[in-house]
Amino acid sequence: MNSDLERKVLDAVPTGLLIGGEWRQAASGATTKVEDPSTGEVLAEVADAAPEDGMAALTAAHEAQAAWAATAPRERSDVLRRAYQAMLAQQEDLALLMTLEMGKPLAESRGEVAYAAEFLRWFSEEAVRIDGGFATAPAGGSRFLVMKQPVGPCLFITPWNFPLAMGARKIGPALAAGCTVVIKPAPQTPLSMLALGRILLDAGVPAGVLNILNATDAQGVMEPIIRDGRARKLSFTGSTGVGKILLEQCAEKVLRTSLELGGNASFLVFDDADLDKAVEGAMLAKMRNMGEACTAANRFYVHRSVADAFAGKLAERMGALKVGRGTEDGVQVGPLVDAKGLGKVVDLVGDAVSHGARITVGGEKADGPGYFYPPTVLVDVPQNSRLNHEEVFGPVAPISVFDTEDEALAAANATEFGLVNYVFTENLNRALRVAEKLESGMVGLNTGLVSNPAAPFGGIKESGLGREGGTVGIEEFLEIKYVAIGGLG
Ligand code: ADP
Repeated sequence: MNSDLERKVLDAVPTGLLIGGEWRQAASGATTKVEDPSTGEVLAEVADAAPEDGMAALTAAHEAQAAWAATAPRERSDVLRRAYQAMLAQQEDLALLMTLEMGKPLAESRGEVAYAAEFLRWFSEEAVRIDGGFATAPAGGSRFLVMKQPVGPCLFITPWNFPLAMGARKIGPALAAGCTVVIKPAPQTPLSMLALGRILLDAGVPAGVLNILNATDAQGVMEPIIRDGRARKLSFTGSTGVGKILLEQCAEKVLRTSLELGGNASFLVFDDADLDKAVEGAMLAKMRNMGEACTAANRFYVHRSVADAFAGKLAERMGALKVGRGTEDGVQVGPLVDAKGLGKVVDLVGDAVSHGARITVGGEKADGPGYFYPPTVLVDVPQNSRLNHEEVFGPVAPISVFDTEDEALAAANATEFGLVNYVFTENLNRALRVAEKLESGMVGLNTGLVSNPAAPFGGIKESGLGREGGTVGIEEFLEIKYVAIGGLG
């Protein structure tokens, strides 16, 4: 432990399971350790749920559902608004906590706290705007009344890469819509979610409306409560493989599902791009969160005429980044989350090099503790390299060259994923033409950042189902009920 401040922030976090408004130990008494990925040091021990804890959390959410659905929208809105304010008031502590358990530099953690809080503000505003409809049947006579009602208790499973934002963007719309929640954060990063749980309780979320399960046996705890049927919705952010397993489990009781799965974003730089803007965008799309984002630019396709210039500028910027423990001043790149994540990056870079790619910067894993990998640029990356097909989830930019727009589009779309693609061009016609033809739920046009709580985030193809954020975000938590009214003549 490096400082008293770190100890103080860690000691303030609840370490139990949140079930029915109480912080409890796991029924088995089991705990699990949370480690600092920059040192391997143990930061905290938190309760590790067993299946019976999962059932208790589901029961609490189910019992709280009717009363929460019946609250005034303004009341739900006010709770979220207070939590938003509290998150901002505690931004420094929350950011430090996130950096400790996840590794990202403090500046990025601060940004994530603000981003996560913004979901609570956005949905506090949406809570009071849930609408419905009324119409006359085309043939006259009957009338159509359309009302929206909360889906019911929701199960959420979130990943470690954005420990606060991924939870807030599910919890915000669910609570706004009048749904209760059982959430399971990733075992690597439970502390941020536990801290958010306390903030939400303090803001007035009633007992049972929000339940938090930390569980290393994710499947053992979640599958029975998915198959139980009392929860009516599952929202998952994580890998495509796990998403498919969960989708099958949801089929048994036909749960509504929202899935935010893997990506394989391309980053297209045309010959008419503003290269400085493209490099700036690339730094953001590639290096935000050390590349550990489903939206991260995974493959760079650059027009032959500007490829050398782009690769040179990018390598210069990447090579100048300061790598280190995220709590240290000036650090821009923290460690990867764990040994598995680091191992994958090492493997994918090794595979690309064995297929003929050349490393222009980085590429050598540092010795010593922590899961550090240096910012790396590879050029001449052949299409058959694993890097062009799998999410690297690390600070590695593989660059390939294209000659025509059709070739660039074909390469970008040659993936089963469809979350986001980035396009850099100053030609308006090309920009719109390419944006229309890209097979993804989102496109970053002359920008390396698409995420915004007020915009609909989500993917197509095997990147997922549904959208989070924007005005459609709350619809994922509402059922439509149509009342046919007769007898009016
Ligand atoms: P990653 O490989 O990046 O950790 P995962 O998709 O494995 O991504 O994990 C995302 C979240 O899904 C985590 O909270 C993890 O605990 C959870 N998870 C993993 N496997 C299962 C499963 N079989 N059932 C339920 N949750 C799971």
